[in-house]
Amino acid sequence: MLLLNPRNLTRNYPDQRSRDIMEKTIAFFEKKGLTKLKEDFNGAVWYADFLEFAKEEGLFASMMTPAAQGKEGENAAWDSWRVCGFAEILGFYGLCYWYTYQVSVLGIGPIWMSSNEKAKAKAKRLLDEGNIFAFGLSEKEHGADIYSSDMIVTKLADGSYSATGGKYYIGNANKAAMVSTFGKMADTGAYVFFVADSQHPKYQLIKNTVYSQNYVAEYRLQDYPFTEDDVLHHGDEAWNAALNTVNVGKYNLGWASIGICTHAFYEAIDHAANRHLYGKTVTDFPHVKQLFTDAYVRLVSMKLFALRAADYMKSASSEDRRYLLFNPMVKMKVTTQGEEVVNLLWDVIAAKGFEKEPYFAMAAQDIRCLPKLEGTVHVNMALIIKFMPNYFFFPTEYAPVPRRDEGSDDAFLFNQGATKGLGKIKFHDYRIAYNSYDLPNLSVFKEQIKLFREMMMKAPPSAEQAKDIDFLLTAGEMFTLVVYGQLILENAKIYDVESEVIDQIFDVMVRDFSKFALQLYAKPSSNAAQMEQCMKMIKKSVVDDARYTSVWESHVLKMKDQYSMPK
Ligand SMILES: Cc1cc2nc3c(=O)[nH]c(=O)nc-3n(C[C@H](O)[C@H](O)[C@H](O)COP(=O)(O)OP(=O)(O)OC[C@H]3O[C@@H](n4cnc5c(N)ncnc54)[C@H](O)[C@@H]3O)c2cc1C
Repeated sequence: MLLLNPRNLTRNYPDQRSRDIMEKTIAFFEKKGLTKLKEDFNGAVWYADFLEFAKEEGLFASMMTPAAQGKEGENAAWDSWRVCGFAEILGFYGLCYWYTYQVSVLGIGPIWMSSNEKAKAKAKRLLDEGNIFAFGLSEKEHGADIYSSDMIVTKLADGSYSATGGKYYIGNANKAAMVSTFGKMADTGAYVFFVADSQHPKYQLIKNTVYSQNYVAEYRLQDYPFTEDDVLHHGDEAWNAALNTVNVGKYNLGWASIGICTHAFYEAIDHAANRHLYGKTVTDFPHVKQLFTDAYVRLVSMKLFALRAADYMKSASSEDRRYLLFNPMVKMKVTTQGEEVVNLLWDVIAAKGFEKEPYFAMAAQDIRCLPKLEGTVHVNMALIIKFMPNYFFFPTEYAPVPRRDEGSDDAFLFNQGATKGLGKIKFHDYRIAYNSYDLPNLSVFKEQIKLFREMMMKAPPSAEQAKDIDFLLTAGEMFTLVVYGQLILENAKIYDVESEVIDQIFDVMVRDFSKFALQLYAKPSSNAAQMEQCMKMIKKSVVDDARYTSVWESHVLKMKDQYSMPK
């Protein structure tokens, strides 16, 4: 069983501590119960109970201490494999619990990446004491444009510093023991990353920008004093630390999405399978079967892709930076697929999706958040388009990457180096994965890829189109589908996924590819050659009633009566 079921944890963990973390976290929420979970959500109650539990159990200290910062005998490891399991469980029970962990991850990232040993020792002590952390990058006026930071740091005559400026949308910034804050030097304009203390008198907590259980703060520093001991990075290193921290963090967004969708799926199928209309069970309606089947294979695809991306995160090095394509896709593609899954489920359960007691209304609201955090879908798409030429036309060889569930420490994530040179990164040949199966819908999808590749050669974007982000975003969606399919296929082998499920996945992929081909065709700037090629790419998936029925009966409907959260 690939999807998370808190009643039956099948995921392999390399040590007892990791397994304990997952089991204890599940037990905390199961004991809390759905009624209280939803009351807290509806009342926007700060999650003091969860933070107290996390502190008592040392959860964040275990999850967030890399080997280099671990104490003797601690067996510390920052293990992306374990991180995804934890993020998935937190998302399963509520995005707010995930978020306080997530922004702590972001807050501690620039600290672990720093060579400031005093700051690191302080962070380790505060982490062990059960504190939370925050990441102060965004500003009210500048959104994604972090070049324009107005957090101004002045170096004083005695060698100390003073900072003045505001930050906006900063999670945990009401309580965080260390708030990693990004700014610019007043004299040189060079970037700087320093640590602020949220309880300092010169740290003004202005407001919570949202109405939710989270505190997503606006804070202002006014002549905030600090010394070199609080400086994490100067100049380009500060810039690299900001982006590299987001590289570590944004991967978790996909896992929150997977957790949310899995819980919503259990609830939706139980509701529909136990509801009778016109003498029929709701799950007998043909359109309901189709909605659930699409939702199921989309969710399985999300998980297969994100798990495989973890293997590449863990195998990353300065010679193998393929994770820089796969990781933004977990952020952008998996989270938008999460929205799609919830849309499909909501179409089935209709009015039930608005009720205040079930989990679903929370999922429906929270799932929207993930594509918009840590760089919007557009920003991430603009990033990955840079990889397209090398991916399609200049593959290279790498040693095979196996499943990486051995529990190792991902030291490279805190030593990623400069963020430049994306266009030079090479990938292994996607055709290896695509040629490892012979299935009807996969064959149609391969034909679509061939036509897309042909278009890139015969009718590539003009100079004008290359500057038109609207045009590129749609082409980027098609490229994304090719990469998505590749990693799904690689992992289908590793997890021994049944071929009927794989073909059903590609039934959806063919339809999605056709949809984007039509969108590209319809772009104002598409030329005759591109339009002709787009029309060829619009294809129908292969109909096979036996396969479809078997996937429905043996996989989708099997999700019924498997899990419901205690009241
Ligand atoms: C609940 C919540 C929690 C958050 N937590 C934190 C946090 O803890 N720390 C933190 O630092 N930030 C945090 N953020 C901020 C978040 O990272 C920003 O929302 C995000 O960076 C985008 O900024 P924006 O929403 O202001 O959009 P804008 O930057 O105003 O973007 C407007 C539009 O322009 C598009 N756009 C912008 N730049 C580009 C580009 N280069 N290419 C293509 N399109 C582009 C966007 O996609 C968007 O459609 C949080 C936000 C929310 C909502």
